[in-house]
Amino acid sequence: MYGAGDVRVENVPDAALQAPTDAVVRVVRTCVCGSDLHPFHTMPASAGGSPMGHEFIGVVEETGSAVSTVKAGDFVIAPFAFFDNTCEFCREGLTTSCVHGGFFSTAQAEAVRVPQADGTLVRAPVGEDSALLPSLLTLSDVLITGHHAAVTAGVDARTSVTVIGDGAVGLLAVLAAKRLGAERIILMGRHKVRTDLGRDFGATDVVAERGDEGIAQVRELTGGHGTHTVLECVGHMPAYEQAYGVVRAGGVISRVGVPQYEEAAVGFGSLFGRNITLTGGPGAQRPYIEELLPDVLEGRIEPGKVFDRTVDLDGVPDGYRAMDAREALKVLVQP
Ligand SMILES: [Zn+2]
Repeated sequence: MYGAGDVRVENVPDAALQAPTDAVVRVVRTCVCGSDLHPFHTMPASAGGSPMGHEFIGVVEETGSAVSTVKAGDFVIAPFAFFDNTCEFCREGLTTSCVHGGFFSTAQAEAVRVPQADGTLVRAPVGEDSALLPSLLTLSDVLITGHHAAVTAGVDARTSVTVIGDGAVGLLAVLAAKRLGAERIILMGRHKVRTDLGRDFGATDVVAERGDEGIAQVRELTGGHGTHTVLECVGHMPAYEQAYGVVRAGGVISRVGVPQYEEAAVGFGSLFGRNITLTGGPGAQRPYIEELLPDVLEGRIEPGKVFDRTVDLDGVPDGYRAMDAREALKVLVQP
């Protein structure tokens, strides 16, 4: 990406091992993320450009001398962060805070260098022609992110849920909330094709209105009180304002859309006065992949339904355009 709206496909040096703990993974599927659209809107023009992409599944091509859990030929899932899976944060399951970790940023490509390969890569018993590839790719980001929203909000059979956002993360937050037992799931989104998929995933109600009108509708659906949990899957200020507008007293807001702001209301009228908890953050936690993978492999969930367009690498710039124009929900890339 060379600046807002300016995505190009270029030849760069091949991904290669740089440390004994690295692996090189040939990308079988990658995709464009809703969070890639933030720089697509705002990135200042740059002479050098930035490589893009943080979601991928693929086949290990080469491993460094210290790598022992994966080998050439293994099919693997990579979360959008890398980590050693051994430090004190990793042992607590918070792999995005790994002391040797970081975030991927070069996945929209033919191959990726994976640091900390032993900790990062999760093997999956599938071939490159598996029909499960789209669903497996959601374990790289959008499914584990939606799941993170539901887990950190404390969703279970007892809690009512509002999901804000009808992008891929919002729709998969619905799926995750349903999977964790929620019986009442209100999806706030205004694109009918998407909210219909949200109903497939488990939404019991859809509220298309936004702002005060949307808040009033959610409150009307919940006896005037709002829902125990709110999963905010957008990242813009109006979505945060909606979140504290629809959360029930004593409830929890979890934000997993990357916030496009640093300052926000937390005072008496928003969070403090009604004992609201605010949580959330990046959801690339390895235990989530291990927990959700069997459900994908055995067909109990089909998160790959969020992909509604496939392009090759040359089609990536048009993929950004199509997602930005909301012609496509989520674009799968087959290099
Ligand atoms: Zn670690």
